[in-house]
Amino acid sequence: MFICRNQPCGAEWQLADVLIKNEGQGLMFRCPICGARNKVLRHDAPDGTITLLRAGQFGPAETCCEVIQ
Ligand SMILES: [Zn+2]
Repeated sequence: MFICRNQPCGAEWQLADVLIKNEGQGLMFRCPICGARNKVLRHDAPDGTITLLRAGQFGPAETCCEVIQ
C-alpha cells in the first residue's frame, strides 16, 4: 500500500486507488484526499517484476510498496 506523506493526512491507499504518473519530476501520485504529491520510485527486478516504492525521507527501504506483475 501507499501512505500519504502529508502528516495530518496519512491516508493509506492501494495501488488501484491512486493514479501514478510522471509529472516531470519523476513518478508520483496525488493523494485523493488532501492532494499532496507523493513521490514514487520504480524498481525493475531482473525477473521482470516491477515494484513501486513510496519515496520518503527515510529512503526506499522504509517504504511500503506495490508489486506489479
Ligand atoms: Zn493525503
